[in-house]
Amino acid sequence: MVTRANATNRVWHMTNIEGAVIYCRVSSDQSGRAQSVAQQEADCRRTCEVEGWPVIDVVVDNDIGASRYSQGTRPGFLRLRALLGRGVVLVSWESSRITRKLGEFAELRDFCESLGVQWFVGGRLYDLSDPQDSYMLGIAAQNAELEVALSRKRIMRSKDASAARGVHNGWMPFGYVKTPDGWQVDPERAAVVREAVRRLLAGESLRSLAKEFGERKLPAPSRGTETASGSGWEKIGGKGLRSMILSPTYAGIHVRHRRDNGVRVEVSRVQGNWEPIITSDEHYRLVAMLNDPARKRTWGSQITHLLSGIAVCGVCGKGVKHSNMKSDFRPRYRCPDSHVKRAANELDDYVRDTIIDFFTEDVLLAGQVIYGDDDAAREAAETARALRQRFDAEIIELSKAKVSATTRARMVEQMEAELMPKIEEAEEKARQVSNPVLQKFDGNDPLEVWKSLTILERRTVVRECLRIVVLRVEKRNPRRAFDPESVRITTRKEVPISSRWWNRDE
Ligand SMILES: [Zn+2]
Repeated sequence: MVTRANATNRVWHMTNIEGAVIYCRVSSDQSGRAQSVAQQEADCRRTCEVEGWPVIDVVVDNDIGASRYSQGTRPGFLRLRALLGRGVVLVSWESSRITRKLGEFAELRDFCESLGVQWFVGGRLYDLSDPQDSYMLGIAAQNAELEVALSRKRIMRSKDASAARGVHNGWMPFGYVKTPDGWQVDPERAAVVREAVRRLLAGESLRSLAKEFGERKLPAPSRGTETASGSGWEKIGGKGLRSMILSPTYAGIHVRHRRDNGVRVEVSRVQGNWEPIITSDEHYRLVAMLNDPARKRTWGSQITHLLSGIAVCGVCGKGVKHSNMKSDFRPRYRCPDSHVKRAANELDDYVRDTIIDFFTEDVLLAGQVIYGDDDAAREAAETARALRQRFDAEIIELSKAKVSATTRARMVEQMEAELMPKIEEAEEKARQVSNPVLQKFDGNDPLEVWKSLTILERRTVVRECLRIVVLRVEKRNPRRAFDPESVRITTRKEVPISSRWWNRDE
């Protein structure tokens, strides 16, 4: 019923592509993420198949050593130059496979640019005549370079420190066991972590999850030390689960800190050398979701009403509260400052019907809500991460610079002013991730789905789909029937101007 409508921005790029050149590269990548050349080629061929590009040639570079410190030359790179031309798209598995040297990257980029060659890398087509694409690709390449620099540093350090085994030397999180070979995934405990992540991403609450885990007597973390018997999920509660589950360690991300005047400051993020339990994508979605300020409002209190805190007062914008006062004759949602009040059960029903209509009538928009922004959100999460990495890298550079403390502080300030708004914007966008609860509506009878949902899940659906404003109305007989005109409901997502849904609100 619902199709993903994310192809639109690709159509423009894809004009005039006659064929593709695939570029694969063998590298000495230690992170475990490197794919074999055969895998890279298969991956790229799949891309070409999906995009409908005939494969013109496959270029494989076999020299080991992507490090910027290695002196190796790559014959394939030269051949690539000969093959690329107008109407040819370059397809590679990831930017760090293309080149880890910024100089070479810039060279290839300029080359592609001058010939109108487009570059498909990391699941995305970059049109290098577009300054924004060029910028994004630049960031990706800088990250690749940073990774090499950091991996070299890491190797040097572990050579020095005989006791150091890999990068993790801090606290081992729940879900792993220590072995002579380093941290290993503990299957039983890791399953608990995975279940928690999956269900949190599906909109379940931290508190109820911790409670349920306790009831099921699942293994639980015991603070600081790992013992056979945990301290119990009841004791850990929602807050404990939150701080545990947000650890980047689960995604195999090693975060390095330094002390700065007693304050712990994040220095960098690198790929850890232990097995991840969840993907980095899941990690960043979780961070975005659990840091959502809207979430805090419901934290710790049991919400049993569909719209409390979700529908807002038309006068002051505050979230409405549910109340059941005798003088009201029936339950009401009311503004905390008493600007507006509205019959609660009737408003609940009206919103439910609106949701059903929404999923029944406006298939296209519903599709966007269910799936559409996922790619954008993922991309935004990537962008945020890339920008943060760039920020970190520049901080590292800066720490080496021979300048006065005041100058350094000013430079940091300047960097922050430049990058932070971009990072925050990307992180905000990453928060707009479509929710698995919404995906239940895909292809199913909306009313049946709605009936099957818990109150928390229904709240998630309403929050993701609609904006509800309770308008102030002239004083009326409190026994009077509920008037739909007294509420303004709009969709949360951007709506095409031609949409029926949009007109309906006018
Ligand atoms: Zn108000």
